Amino acid sequence: PKVPRSARRLSGVSVTEPSGERVKVVVRVRPPQGEETGGGCDVERSGRRLKLHRGTATQPFSEFDFDQVLDESAAQADVYNAAVKPIVEDVMAGYNGTIMAYGQTGAGKTFTLSSIQPDAIGMMPRAAAEVFNAVAADPLHEYAVFMSYIQIYMELIQDLLQPQNENMQIREGANGVFVEGVHETEVRSTEDCLRLLQMGDRNRVFAFTKLNAHSSRSHAIVMLTVIKRQRLADPDWPDAEALPVQRMKIGKLFLVDLAGSERLKKSRSTGLRATEARSINLSLTTLGMCINARADPTRPHVPFRDSKLTRLLQEALGGNAKTSLVIAVANAKEHVDESLQSLQFGSRAMHVATAAVVNEHADLKLVNAELASAMEQHIDSGGI
Ligand code: ADP
Ligand code: MG
Repeated sequence: PKVPRSARRLSGVSVTEPSGERVKVVVRVRPPQGEETGGGCDVERSGRRLKLHRGTATQPFSEFDFDQVLDESAAQADVYNAAVKPIVEDVMAGYNGTIMAYGQTGAGKTFTLSSIQPDAIGMMPRAAAEVFNAVAADPLHEYAVFMSYIQIYMELIQDLLQPQNENMQIREGANGVFVEGVHETEVRSTEDCLRLLQMGDRNRVFAFTKLNAHSSRSHAIVMLTVIKRQRLADPDWPDAEALPVQRMKIGKLFLVDLAGSERLKKSRSTGLRATEARSINLSLTTLGMCINARADPTRPHVPFRDSKLTRLLQEALGGNAKTSLVIAVANAKEHVDESLQSLQFGSRAMHVATAAVVNEHADLKLVNAELASAMEQHIDSGGI
């Protein structure tokens, strides 16, 4: 029988379009707060260069160039346009995308990523809104969107939407690595995402209160998975069984609120807490080592497997993903050394090349079991 145009088999396993891109690095300077002495960070008018000053010195002691530097007057929308919007657009097309926020505790990572203050909505709600706007504006495709929310603390992966799962493992599927057993919740609106975000944050606070520890030592990761396929021209096609298998495009967006990058000796950790320090920071240290290795083509070994975070973000660090790194720094003289360290980290990340391809699969079970079962529920409830 004649096959509807929209259901024609797509050729090839995946549509490979190496993009020749690299990690994009955007710096956000937050205004001084409370008792802080403002200053130290001087953003050049070009919006690309940042100079660091110490004390009352007029000459900078260090300066860096980035893809974009946003000074303290920048709004959340500016950060979104610079670091997030292009990536969300790519995720809608079936690419993997990652937004990572790096910086010392208090520098503005969580404010930037997940603020829900009405006058300062953060990147995560903005990204979700953009996803659902795009879904509503595209009559040619059917979509299903899933969200999960995890944290990595002391090398344990905890499901923040099902907190009793506190030691999940990373596995490798046809679509890259994934967290085995993670709760994939279907989301149909920005409000759904916000509800889950708040629920996860409550679980996170609870987990840390129980441990008498601080959440700034953990990495929080929101994952949005967008599955799309062409809408069939005629859903009542008489010979549905004869239709070719339709491939689905799977775009995955990671929003990563990294643990505070400050060195531990500066914080007031003692005794047991200090002996835990190595394990607490293993993921962050390994992230730095992976970026150094990826930025230097003469170093073939990248220690992705040495930590949970880098294993999970392996694709984002120079594999199949489009990646933006937001470096958060405080425009405060007392933090200038921590700012220097964060900017050095960002500067090295500018040299990490990525090679994203559109993810296309016919069988979700090969990609990841949790997604496949979430998708079955979606279909049962009258979705695709
Ligand atoms: P981090 O997550 O990096 O530890 P937070 O995002 O919690 O830091 O920010 C610390 C404090 O600074 C919060 O009270 C937050 O509201 C405030 N803050 C951060 N960035 C900005 C900004 N760009 N403008 C205004 N306030 C900010
Ligand atoms: Mg935070």
